[in-house]
Amino acid sequence: MSDGALRNAADHIRDARTTFAFTGAGISVESGIPPFRGPGGVWSKHDPALFEMGYFRRNPEASWKLIRELFYERFNTVKPNKAHTALAELEAAGLLTTVVTQNIDGLHQKAGNTHVLEYHGSTSRVQCMSCRRKYPTESVSLDTLPPKCPDCGGVLKPDIVFFSEGIPDDVHREATQLARSADVLIVVGTTGEVQPAGRIPWVAHHNGATIIEINPNESAYTYKATDIYLEGKAGRMLPELLEAVLTPR
Ligand SMILES: [Zn+2]
Repeated sequence: MSDGALRNAADHIRDARTTFAFTGAGISVESGIPPFRGPGGVWSKHDPALFEMGYFRRNPEASWKLIRELFYERFNTVKPNKAHTALAELEAAGLLTTVVTQNIDGLHQKAGNTHVLEYHGSTSRVQCMSCRRKYPTESVSLDTLPPKCPDCGGVLKPDIVFFSEGIPDDVHREATQLARSADVLIVVGTTGEVQPAGRIPWVAHHNGATIIEINPNESAYTYKATDIYLEGKAGRMLPELLEAVLTPR
């Protein structure tokens, strides 16, 4: 990757009216969160059928046991890494409006980003299957599974999108509008294989946005949608990009 590409990307961000980021599992692996897909990913060890809504309805206790093991046992100790922090600093500098993320780990908010659209929900909340009320996860005990709604006694489900569940409408609508109107999109740590989220960069590309991509390996976007490809891990490339943006020409 040339220094020129980094300067070019930085110039686009500085000159843009609206820049947003689109992130995937690759930004969180450096925080110790395993991806779902690929070798060593969650799906290489566990049957995705356990994350079907029908399975959860029939076996909430068994489903919760796995979910607790995968997502909640280290929930309070997992920390944002340098890539998350760089995006938070871009927002603080007034150069990033929104993070659209496919991750469910809540690390963008922990890093300090205030406007995060979560395509697949978040482990930081649970939702009652009966009355639909949502609660912060830390307010609920996971000692006895499944946890029950303090209000109506219904079964609480993690507020993450299960297979055969739809993407939250409001999130999809807002992310699509943003993709239609933004000048610059920074794609980080995602190969774009999961739909419909993976279409967001395409919408931005077709509406004339400059696509800056940060990935350690080429993706479905690299030769077709990406304008500036910054090859490398998010934890190295995003801080470098931030520094280039904040260093006066
Ligand atoms: Zn309830």
